[in-house]
Amino acid sequence: MRPVYLDNNATTRVDPKVVSAMLPFFTEQFGNASSMHAFGSEVGSALKKARGQLQALLGTEFDHEIVYTGSGTESDNTALLSALETQPGRDEIVTSTVEHPAILALCQWLQKNRGIKVFYTPVDSRGRLDIDAYRKALGPKTAIASIMWANNETGTIFPVEQLADLAHDHGALFHTDAVQAVGKVPIDLKTSEIDMLSLSGHKLHAPKGIGALYVRRGVRLRPLLRGGHQERGRRASTENAPGIIGLGVAAELALEHMHDEQTRVASLRDRLEKGLLQRIGNAFVTGDAESRLPNTSNIAFEFIEGEGILLLLNKEGIACSSGSACTSGSLEPSHVLRAMKVPYTAAHGAIRFSFSRDNTDEDVDQVLAVMPGVVERLRSLSPFWKSGEKTSFEPTYA
Ligand SMILES: *Cc1c(COP(=O)(O)O)cnc(C)c1O
Repeated sequence: MRPVYLDNNATTRVDPKVVSAMLPFFTEQFGNASSMHAFGSEVGSALKKARGQLQALLGTEFDHEIVYTGSGTESDNTALLSALETQPGRDEIVTSTVEHPAILALCQWLQKNRGIKVFYTPVDSRGRLDIDAYRKALGPKTAIASIMWANNETGTIFPVEQLADLAHDHGALFHTDAVQAVGKVPIDLKTSEIDMLSLSGHKLHAPKGIGALYVRRGVRLRPLLRGGHQERGRRASTENAPGIIGLGVAAELALEHMHDEQTRVASLRDRLEKGLLQRIGNAFVTGDAESRLPNTSNIAFEFIEGEGILLLLNKEGIACSSGSACTSGSLEPSHVLRAMKVPYTAAHGAIRFSFSRDNTDEDVDQVLAVMPGVVERLRSLSPFWKSGEKTSFEPTYA
């Protein structure tokens, strides 16, 4: 059985070119970049090159705007905590209901334990942010507005430049969790209003355990970790040299493949989506079809359980996801689909297919061949399913 991996928003395969660039930094070039001998300086110059590669992907203008971290989660946490600590008197955060837990769980903790006021901007049924509500939530006490660039579950893209402008009208900082956007859509921070941006290596074919936080020149950063002078004192810890070097090569490859992502990957995704909707009734796409990542499709199959779908697909060698990996295991539908008010009967059966440049036409064919049978089997067992029943929700995309 040919494995089909369509869960690239959860994590990606490390590109073999990334692996081979990293390998010497585990063996011959194992030095500590801070050391005064040749072992260290060799690593130091490789790190410098890697930083340039990531800067090119992000289109940053100045040196020292990138702080390496251990993950996307760490970058998100650093951004929000720093904004509160560097701006005494500003004790409010504006975010959205559909953020990743790396933002939401921190905000809930800050509300409970630090008395921080958090406004969770709602979204509409397509997952689009309520810009009016966002605007009204901003005020003189807002320390930071943090809105993701693209949603990990539906792929919906948010108008981050406009949102950054609005935050600046109130003197607030603007951070974006761009973990799902980096490598999939063009980013040019030198022409941007964004103050801070989080990314994670393992979502763009680099390894797990390496992330970065972009901090625009002039924005103060309070470190999360104190210790050595690495990252100019902004993130103490001996540099993860293999990770940083891997992320550099991954960034270079992402730039090279950007066009492919926008065209070939998007057309694979579109063919799967259209094919599934043609073959299977009572199913609809969630998310904003007009402003969406090229690689993501979230389809709700009414009257069945996502977990059941995943299990049967897994038996056929197909890997995808229901809701976010972080919330699966609970029977509650994903917080993103609940925020979009997708009816429970549909949200429970929502499946996310997320592609990458590794995917092929054969992958799409395999899912199209298997999925109708899977849905039919589960519906035949479902007490909620009455054949021929009309969909209870207006499809957003057909
Ligand atoms: C995966 C993900 C994260 C977390 O990144 P890690 O490196 O796994 O900690 C944060 N935000 C979004 C949108 C993600 O998809």
